[in-house]
Amino acid sequence: MSGTRDPAVRQSPAVRATGSDTDTLLQTDGVTKRFGGFTAIDGIDFGVNTAELRCLIGPNGAGKSTLLKLITGQHSVTDGEVYYRGEGITDLLPHERVDRGIGMKFQVPSVFDDLTAAGNLRLPLQRVVTNGDLAARVQEALDRVGLSDRADTHASELSHGEQQHLEIGMAVALDPDLLLLDEPVAGLSMEERNDIADLVTALNGDGIAFVVIEHDIDFVARIADEVTVLHQGAVFREGPIEQIRTDEKVRRIYLGGD
Ligand code: ADP
Ligand code: MG
Repeated sequence: MSGTRDPAVRQSPAVRATGSDTDTLLQTDGVTKRFGGFTAIDGIDFGVNTAELRCLIGPNGAGKSTLLKLITGQHSVTDGEVYYRGEGITDLLPHERVDRGIGMKFQVPSVFDDLTAAGNLRLPLQRVVTNGDLAARVQEALDRVGLSDRADTHASELSHGEQQHLEIGMAVALDPDLLLLDEPVAGLSMEERNDIADLVTALNGDGIAFVVIEHDIDFVARIADEVTVLHQGAVFREGPIEQIRTDEKVRRIYLGGD
């Protein structure tokens, strides 16, 4: 993803301060989202470095899904800016953000049951592969998420775990530099969770940065180094998983206190 270098483009505070050599891939600057009178996201500064694997945790209603939707453009911000590669993307449409290299797997399943695994992967690819080999790109995506032998199986006949691999594949097919996953292992067995952990770790090893929302702290510990804890629409804690895991105040917000 090249990104223009138009001087009129708004630059993130990090880029203004240090030039474009910064390692920061994504940065939100005072991002706020209100739904009517309710503030779901309250002035969040959240950053992700190139090829980082970050987990986002917090109790139900903390604002995790909303924050990801502000990054993808599914929701517009009420206030603040979103920067990607140092450039303001706050006013870009969701598909324009995808074209810049931001991929997302939503909390709600989005594979088409009536299509095969290959057919599902063709959907995002046919928009961008205009004069290349579509079949080769589909095959490559199948390989990357370990579904080569399931290419011709209808999505409805895939296991729950395989469907999650397929959904991740639909985002990976577009070659993202940042992939946002909203609860990718919800409802999966232990074995399926381990498979997703291996997949995410492998894709991260290929250079894709991740933000993963997850409740299962053992899963988080398996994949993440740094963890961000959201609570009531704000960043409550940020740090290495070992530190977050033993933080008494983090434990308490999960139990419902303040
Ligand atoms: P999480 O993913 O951390 O469980 P969400 O981001 O889904 O939390 O929601 C954060 C808060 O914003 C919740 O109180 C939720 O009810 C509210 N909210 C989310 N989306 C909307 C919406 N479209 N309209 C009104 N309120 C919303
Ligand atoms: Mg959510």
